Amino acid sequence: MSAEERLIRYCQVDTQSDPSHEDVTPSSQKQFDLAKILKEELEELGLKDVVLDEHCYVYGKLPSNLSGSVKKVGFIAHMDTAPDFSGTNVMPRIIECFDGEDIVLNDTTVTRMSDFPQMKELKGKRLMVTDGTTLLGADDKAGIVAIMEALVYLKEHPEYPHGEIRVGFTPDEEIGNGTKYFNIEQFDADFAYTMDGGTVSELSDETFNAASAVVKFQGFSIHPGSAKNKMINAARIATQYQQALPEYMTPEHTEDREGFIHLHGMQGNVESAVLDYIIRDHDKQKLEEKKEILKKACEYFNTVYGKQVCTIEIRDSYPNMKSVLQEKPEAVDIAWKVLEGMGFDVVNEPVRGGTDGAMLTIRGLPCPNLGAGGGNFHGPYEYCVMGELEQATEVILKIISEVAEEA
Ligand SMILES: [Zn+2]
Repeated sequence: MSAEERLIRYCQVDTQSDPSHEDVTPSSQKQFDLAKILKEELEELGLKDVVLDEHCYVYGKLPSNLSGSVKKVGFIAHMDTAPDFSGTNVMPRIIECFDGEDIVLNDTTVTRMSDFPQMKELKGKRLMVTDGTTLLGADDKAGIVAIMEALVYLKEHPEYPHGEIRVGFTPDEEIGNGTKYFNIEQFDADFAYTMDGGTVSELSDETFNAASAVVKFQGFSIHPGSAKNKMINAARIATQYQQALPEYMTPEHTEDREGFIHLHGMQGNVESAVLDYIIRDHDKQKLEEKKEILKKACEYFNTVYGKQVCTIEIRDSYPNMKSVLQEKPEAVDIAWKVLEGMGFDVVNEPVRGGTDGAMLTIRGLPCPNLGAGGGNFHGPYEYCVMGELEQATEVILKIISEVAEEA
């Protein structure tokens, strides 16, 4: 089976996660369909202690073939696809030599280069695309393929030196629960990589610091006809609160290393109202400042109304993994060396979001993120550059070999 056949096969298994069942892991039972296949394949490839647990996590260990002992390195990818777009009946298609022009996916859906100018650079490449009715699922099945193909290579080349290798496939990454039940002890690696980025030259070791805020407003409801000087309209205060926040600190107006305060939900009436925010910044101090802005606005309205009309609850979600990876740089250093050695101009940009690796890093397993060749994730325009997928496997094998050299 080629990497291409493998990717098509995995993409055709519908593994969409379901945010309406986020309290259960996996959020959709169909993720087990792929998990079972992967478990079997890991066993066939000679991995030991292959486990598929009740939360749909798959783990496997490839024993070392070295006489000395070296660091145990892990590779992780997620099995689910994004809830944003259908993953049912995925029909991938290969474009043998991309001409750099718009890609007609079907009668109504066209990947326009004016929308995705970065795709121009892929001219001449072999691409896998969708039929326009589903996403592709290269996010993150390309990551799974890259890992599996490396294991196939190791099986076919028993002379290739490698230490202890760990593999983990996770559910529900797309709904933020990818590491919820990830068993770090069972995984048993010194460091690892999530294969969940875009282009293969990508190495991400920095994420946002993240927090969320729930702001509640308490009103005083009274018949509008006799409301003068009595009614306190919670819904109206909520809109004023939102308007009091800096416009330039929204996702729509920020990029690169700029953080934001994002209103992502609101509900309310005269009696009560709630605003839901997420707060993000790569810089820890700046994240704290943003929290302060939200708290100050709350105090302001309490002062204006002369009573507590507003309460705020702020929770930290995840910290920037860079703070830990700077202390334990090995995983990042090895990946840099390998990518540069392959002639890549390493793309090392701060992720404007989180990664599963960020959560694992904070929990003690250093875990930067690498690319597996996909792009335009979460929708019908998703693609995978087949050459880059093969290179992702090469990256994995070279990392393994770097680690083995310490013996
Ligand atoms: Zn992903």
